[in-house]
Amino acid sequence: MPIEPIVIDAIINGKKHKAEKQAPRENPANPDETVGYAPLNTRAETIQAIDAADAAFTMWRETSFDDRIARMRRAIQKIKEKTPEIAALLSREHGKALYDAEGEIAVSMMWMEFACDNIADVLQNEVQEHNGGKTIIARDAVGVVTAISPWNYPISLSTIKIAPALLAGNTMVLKPSPLAPLAVSKVTELIADEFPPGVLNLVHGEAEVGVELTSNSKVAKIAFTGGTETAKHIMKAAADTIKHMTLELGGNDAAVVLDDFDVNDDKAMRRIVISNFLTAGQICMIAKRVYVHETIFDKFIEKYREAADKWIRVGDPFDKNVTVGPLNNKKQVEFVQRLIDDSKQKGAEVIKLGKVLDEELYQRGYFMQPTLVLGADYDDPIVEQEQFGPTVPILPFKDDKHAIRLANNSIYGLTSSVWGKEEHAVEVAKHIQAGTTMINTAAIQGLDVRFPFGGVKQSGIGREYGKEGLLSYTETHVINIPKTLDLPYIPE
Ligand code: NAD
Repeated sequence: MPIEPIVIDAIINGKKHKAEKQAPRENPANPDETVGYAPLNTRAETIQAIDAADAAFTMWRETSFDDRIARMRRAIQKIKEKTPEIAALLSREHGKALYDAEGEIAVSMMWMEFACDNIADVLQNEVQEHNGGKTIIARDAVGVVTAISPWNYPISLSTIKIAPALLAGNTMVLKPSPLAPLAVSKVTELIADEFPPGVLNLVHGEAEVGVELTSNSKVAKIAFTGGTETAKHIMKAAADTIKHMTLELGGNDAAVVLDDFDVNDDKAMRRIVISNFLTAGQICMIAKRVYVHETIFDKFIEKYREAADKWIRVGDPFDKNVTVGPLNNKKQVEFVQRLIDDSKQKGAEVIKLGKVLDEELYQRGYFMQPTLVLGADYDDPIVEQEQFGPTVPILPFKDDKHAIRLANNSIYGLTSSVWGKEEHAVEVAKHIQAGTTMINTAAIQGLDVRFPFGGVKQSGIGREYGKEGLLSYTETHVINIPKTLDLPYIPE
């Protein structure tokens, strides 16, 4: 049933701000339907938002933890109450299945609650009395933070920044992606309403807005999640004013399946399949290439196909039976298809997995039936590049050393996983270059908001989640009170 498109406004200094231009957001399952309109803010409006955040900072940094936490908890409560409608909106504008949209909101709330529960402890002053006197190590707010988030997990990758930044005493301007701008704006409105004007501002738009957010001299820190290529532009834009940065970037996560993995463990096999195809493969931390020990390879493929055919049901994100919705946008479909076509042309076998539930809808929307690619070369684009879509190459390896070499043969190092007997898997995990390595699970199933998350190599700089994710919105400020005021090494 068609629904009335919703209209989102920017939020600048506590007020909704109508932009002159709006950009429509289509429904990826049915591109003829417009789900809503988000503003296309200008550079001048972006400057207004940064100025508002800058003006609010002096007041906000002096507020107490109790005050900040109470406001954030009220916002969490409101988001929880509105979860059904926010999840439906997210599903409709993004394409992810409804259970997946609900899961995204649940994880976001878990993190926001963790941040509220821990911020005062993690940021409390550390006081050391020592033979030289007394030293206070304080954690000061950084200043104005700009947060730039991607389309694949718009709510969790925005709240992952909003909660620690505001709780630590910073102010913020958030810019979500134009490819999923609506539900995250609803969440941001609910949060901003609980805070004084200027503390949390929201703008929308393309690169023009992004450039201002990353180069304006009043911005102290950039918290960015998105592609590695975009991050290179951001680092250049920020260079002139030496900004702090947390960068969560692309990944090409390897899953290593050892010779002692039990291929008859149906539940583990289901976890591997889900770790390849949740959110139609559009997750930074999904297993994007799977390496299987050659002695179990054939049996593994047989059982993997059984598990995939059982779990993968492609169709309408609102159909409760559906596990895989459409891709978010046409460009992504074309990119993934090019990688698959390239493998086919080079002689690889491309096997369709699961079933399509509604053929008519499938033809209309940005759907792709998940595929398994066998026989690709280790350095083919489908193996080397981040596909960010529902396809996965599975390749054999000879021994643990070979597997480790293959897993590490990437410019990326976000997450990874090792599957097999626990002790053996942990030993192999220690040699993999990644921010996180999961044992016998992968992707979001293995995520824990209590522990730091982030990438090595070109997958990023810094960490979100965990205590490190709270500390990353602070500056360490040392206040030294020496016992003696003599100057022993300085001549009279
Ligand atoms: P993207 O880099 O195209 O866009 C991300 C954001 O940056 C969007 O809001 C976009 O409008 C903005 N942007 C674009 N150009 C800009 C510029 N010049 N200056 C400032 N901002 C600019 O990424 P995407 O396509 O939205 O997301 C997919 C990518 O994000 C994938 O590579 C994925 O791996 C990565 N990702 C990483 C993580 C992680 O935690 N490491 C999580 C999710 C997604």
